[in-house]
Amino acid sequence: MVDVELLVLGGGVTGLAAAAGMGDRAVVIERDARPGGLVRTECFDGYWFDRVLHVLHFQDPALRDRTRALLGGVLAPCPPEAWVETAAGTARFPIQLHLGGLRAEARVRCLEGLARAACAPAPPDGGGPPAYDQFLLASFGPALCELFYFPYNRKLWRRPLDALVPAGQTWNLQRPSLADAIRGAFPDAPPRGGYNEDAFYPRPPADAPCRGMEVLARALAARVRHLSLATEVEEIDPARRTVTARRGGERVVYRYGACLCTLPLPAAMRMCVDAPPALREAAAALPHNAVLSAAFSVRGPRPAAPGQWRYYTDESLCFTRLVHMTELDPMMAPADGWGVLAEIPVRSGPRAPDAEVLARARRDLARAGALPPGCRVVDARLMAADPAYVVFTRGADAAARACRDWLAERGIAALGRYGRWEYSSMSRCMAQGIRWAESARAGVPWADGEAALA
Ligand SMILES: Cc1cc2nc3c(=O)[nH]c(=O)nc-3n(C[C@H](O)[C@H](O)[C@H](O)COP(=O)(O)OP(=O)(O)OC[C@H]3O[C@@H](n4cnc5c(N)ncnc54)[C@H](O)[C@@H]3O)c2cc1C
Repeated sequence: MVDVELLVLGGGVTGLAAAAGMGDRAVVIERDARPGGLVRTECFDGYWFDRVLHVLHFQDPALRDRTRALLGGVLAPCPPEAWVETAAGTARFPIQLHLGGLRAEARVRCLEGLARAACAPAPPDGGGPPAYDQFLLASFGPALCELFYFPYNRKLWRRPLDALVPAGQTWNLQRPSLADAIRGAFPDAPPRGGYNEDAFYPRPPADAPCRGMEVLARALAARVRHLSLATEVEEIDPARRTVTARRGGERVVYRYGACLCTLPLPAAMRMCVDAPPALREAAAALPHNAVLSAAFSVRGPRPAAPGQWRYYTDESLCFTRLVHMTELDPMMAPADGWGVLAEIPVRSGPRAPDAEVLARARRDLARAGALPPGCRVVDARLMAADPAYVVFTRGADAAARACRDWLAERGIAALGRYGRWEYSSMSRCMAQGIRWAESARAGVPWADGEAALA
């Protein structure tokens, strides 16, 4: 039995931020051989790929300054430059602020829809939230929905949009004032920022052993004194305050004072020996999507100004966006090449063989015109994130909250994107971890509502 004051389950950025600087008081248990969770970056023969698109953006200037100091100057400002490919032309993202990129008739229809949406009376109270498609229509009007929001969201969520509700996925939807939409509807209008302008990406020196967003995870991990890698949590006993894990075939039992759980909520509930069956079943039924990231190493001239990433609304293309890794950091590929990451959302569950997914993505890459003449794909790899997107259906939020409350009442804080079961960013996850550590250090019991303040 190992006695631990603060036990952290999961070595992603939430868990690492919580334990960083806690010295001997905290132990992090991580299943994988490398810390970072989703925030890891793979190198395939000199081509570097984040496991998913990762740009670090901050709402809190104090956390930004603290993170920049931690990374010792390698975190470079990287205001997003993204584009949207639609049936009516290419517009800068967020599209509602850059209608000038669209064909004239589409611009007029989008503005008309936005104007009607802006003037519509607020829906009456009561009756619960509208379906997600109705929410989008009321926010942006029909033309912008048909052009971008509907096809993009159908590809992302892989469900009819009337089966979803607007909940935790709406924080990054920017509803423009009509004046701002009009300003952006002139073809030569200057670009304007979205929700994540205060954004950064690591750009370490050429000979650095690690590139990409994993630089952040490694910097956090370097501040964690007790990080037990290749150690898989198997059982949580909240009544005894113990966690049983397996490391190299050996069983290790930890007894904790306080516990932070960043494992996906359904998995955590399944592992809790005394979880009420109804809660466990509700957690197991929480819908979610996986993301398959198809990483293509390309030899040939880099495309001219492709943007850091590009959204594709054509529903016959398997990916929602293409990420141009060398736009984030030019040294993410050899000088005579570049890397492109195709983000393919799928419903969780059995899926097509990797080779099939890669072959389809490669065909679609060519169809989308993303491989300029003189370029040749020299390698293709598939990386899966599952869960990647929690899905907001009616009742899902309440079920997740009931599970978190049950855990919190037993001294376990369920935090992080999958621990809380939410749609959150790296900085928000780090803020949650830090907040938990502060309250644990002060001996204050954790209440789930605390995370909302992070
Ligand atoms: C497609 C996509 C794009 C994104 N883009 C951005 C972006 O641009 N900017 C941004 O800020 N955020 C972005 N995010 C969100 C960001 O990746 C997450 O918010 C963050 O990485 C979550 O960190 P975490 O530590 O909470 O979870 P995780 O990274 O999932 O960490 C949990 C850890 O628990 C471990 N674990 C699981 N089960 C066990 C077990 N049984 N025993 C031991 N360990 C276990 C896992 O291995 C993992 O390391 C994106 C996410 C996705 C899916």
